[in-house]
Amino acid sequence: MITDTTVSLVSFYIDGAWERPAGRAGGTITNPATGAVLAEVPYAEADDIDRAVRAAHQAFLSWREVPVVDRVQVLYRYKTLLDKHAGDLAATLTSENGKTAGDAMAEVRRAIQMVEVACGMPSLMMGDSLNDVAAGIDCKTIRQPIGVCAGITPFNFPAMVPMWMHPFAIACGNTFVLKPSEKVPLTPTYAIQLLHEAGLPAGVMNLVHGAKPAVDALLSHPLVKAVSFVGSTPVAKYIYATAAGAGKRVQALGGAKNHMVVMPDADMRKTVEAIIGSAFGAAGERCLAGSVLVPVGDAAGPLLDLLVARTQAMTVGDGSQTGVEMGPLVTAEHCRRVTGYVEKGVAEGAVPLVDGRQHKPAGSGYFLGPTIFDHVTPEMTIAREEIFGPVLSVMRVKTLDDAIELVNRSPYGNATAIFTASGKSAREYSSRCEVGMVGVNVGVAAPMAFFPFAGWKHSFFGDLHAHGKDAVAFYTEQKVIMSRWF
Ligand code: NAD
Repeated sequence: MITDTTVSLVSFYIDGAWERPAGRAGGTITNPATGAVLAEVPYAEADDIDRAVRAAHQAFLSWREVPVVDRVQVLYRYKTLLDKHAGDLAATLTSENGKTAGDAMAEVRRAIQMVEVACGMPSLMMGDSLNDVAAGIDCKTIRQPIGVCAGITPFNFPAMVPMWMHPFAIACGNTFVLKPSEKVPLTPTYAIQLLHEAGLPAGVMNLVHGAKPAVDALLSHPLVKAVSFVGSTPVAKYIYATAAGAGKRVQALGGAKNHMVVMPDADMRKTVEAIIGSAFGAAGERCLAGSVLVPVGDAAGPLLDLLVARTQAMTVGDGSQTGVEMGPLVTAEHCRRVTGYVEKGVAEGAVPLVDGRQHKPAGSGYFLGPTIFDHVTPEMTIAREEIFGPVLSVMRVKTLDDAIELVNRSPYGNATAIFTASGKSAREYSSRCEVGMVGVNVGVAAPMAFFPFAGWKHSFFGDLHAHGKDAVAFYTEQKVIMSRWF
């Protein structure tokens, strides 16, 4: 296990071996709750990426021939090891990302679920067949792996998001190069150590670290056939345009601005708990976080009274400590950025009901307490931009139609929620909102591993979503075979 008193060296994993080449530039990883140095991470150069991709390409030539029932045996062993190390993985995650022990364990469980679903690949990869489509001619579809796949992942789910990709890709017979966020390299490194221990052949999985230059080297490498990306919208757009322009298959999941609509007939107490979890869970650093609260009609009064009191009572602190409900932001820089949005909200005339600048622990951690702004208007910066921190904007509307119009004006369409006791309102909202993932009385509508995950509009660039059956389609080529025997 990696603790904040151990300065550990994060390495590349290329062709089945751990290596840390000398002379690479890199970054320092700190525990966001304390500022303590955890690790130094080396950044891969184009040469390192080339070696990782070539190793993956070489391994593909034999891995694709391994029967799928044998390929998933490695994933069964991976799952067993992940279960065994779940506690330490979650502790590592808290130490480098800052989320609470409960949030970290929930993430690790979700990550393991991805592996469990990928273990079903013998059934998931099956094609269709029909005999006698013409006289004496039979037809079938088969799915074949595509080659070297690359994954580029964000800082906020260092255990789960890489698992949206590599277990599915590998089970389908591909090989993989993962470039996780340079802000949180320890958790994915830990997981890949377990995959190595599970007995995956050399070169099937490769891990490199770094920032834009490492990503660009992956995007331009001719042997990379598919790119899976999760991160912010500007980078998602860039990845999509660059990789698709180079003829690669791409799925690029981007940023979000998620609205939570509350009808006057909602169960206000339960709704408040769901809003707290959605807006302030993982310090708002979730692509599914509800960041705009839309009370409809008379809902605002009772809702905000309860919500403000509950928010003011929240415990903010080091996520590894028992009873802490919200941890720090991931880096000092991100904390400054989010605090800047709070300052901008005040400057642009929003009314702070809870000001997180006054509700945070002392010390050298990167803390900002939960913040609620009322009377936010559409032109304000905090209403338009993704903040990715514990800042909730309240935008009051008169009717459900007004709420739908407000939500559909957003350039983003990742997730949303409606809180109501009316099936009719819920059905109407779910049907008319232009959003990819919808919660009905659910604050974080995170699809499980066997369902697809992605948003609409500027929250997603591509066609096939993450995990579920879409992952199988993304990581395979489909072929139709027509046979006639003379
Ligand atoms: P980010 O876009 O800054 O970084 C994501 C990845 O891209 C990292 O691996 C990073 O090294 C790389 N990268 C950064 N800048 C790059 C550039 N200019 N060129 C090429 N590569 C670059 O995102 P982040 O701050 O790590 O994560 C937070 C963002 O991710 C938020 O916007 C959040 O909404 C989004 N996110 C989306 C989903 C989803 O499912 N849609 C899930 C999780 C996070």
